[in-house]
Amino acid sequence: MPLPVISHPGYAVDIGPHVFPMEKYRLVRERLLAEGTITAEDLVQPEPVTDDDVRLAHTAEFVRKIREGRLSMAEQFTLEVPYSPALRDAMWLMTGGTLLAARLAIERQIAVHLGGGFHHAFPDHGEGFCLVNDVAIAIRMLARDGLAQRALVVDLDVHHGNGTAAIFRDEPTVFTFSMHQERNYPAWKPPSDLDVGLDDRTPDASYLAALERHLPDIVARHRPEIAFYLAGADPFERDQLGGLALSMDGLRRRDATVFRTLREAAVPVAVMLAGGYAVREDDTVEIHCNTVRVAAGTR
Ligand SMILES: [Zn+2]
Repeated sequence: MPLPVISHPGYAVDIGPHVFPMEKYRLVRERLLAEGTITAEDLVQPEPVTDDDVRLAHTAEFVRKIREGRLSMAEQFTLEVPYSPALRDAMWLMTGGTLLAARLAIERQIAVHLGGGFHHAFPDHGEGFCLVNDVAIAIRMLARDGLAQRALVVDLDVHHGNGTAAIFRDEPTVFTFSMHQERNYPAWKPPSDLDVGLDDRTPDASYLAALERHLPDIVARHRPEIAFYLAGADPFERDQLGGLALSMDGLRRRDATVFRTLREAAVPVAVMLAGGYAVREDDTVEIHCNTVRVAAGTR
């Protein structure tokens, strides 16, 4: 059975000159299609979520501010991307993609979203390029719709999943696991259910050992019905915003370890791209493509 891959041309928004490579969403899709890892028939396009859906993880006041374009200068400064109605629409659409990936994962064991992973968004504000927390909204929608109550977030972006940790702090049904560079953004790291803060320049071997040490145990103890995997490309050794030292092969082995661990425990997994700011944009695209190649190979 083919790997469901969720993607939409509407994800790319003009944010001007910026370290965030908006065009990666298109470039990853085009490379995977060109090489035959996926076919046009594997691609599924999402519908946007509604304001009611977004309010499952965000305050009514914050959603109203976004809807009316009333974010203050201070709020836009914290967000670190320029607000526009186009950005709002793209994020509503991308959150729909995250939800669709989860729904397809529940049916098919694994689905990949060529987008998503905006883990720095809090209930009442966005920050660090993240306007709204797509994964948190999707988790709450799955619970609301009776599709899954127990969720696991495996956040392997180089940055701590602060927004996700804050949203689910008092929710025992959702286990948040973040493995990140300790001395990096965000300065304030509200506790996840398990935080593994790594030293600067942590290489492949110790990174993979830490993953093997923690993930199988988390899965066995929490027994999730669905896992969301934030497969950030920014633990890469040549990332502009990251300070770990994983090689491209190490990142590929990271992905394989996550997929194998979840498959062995029969936990469906929805994959998000999350961050990636390699000096060469092509490396970011290649790391994300590797995640999809490994996912396709697990089937
Ligand atoms: Zn990141």
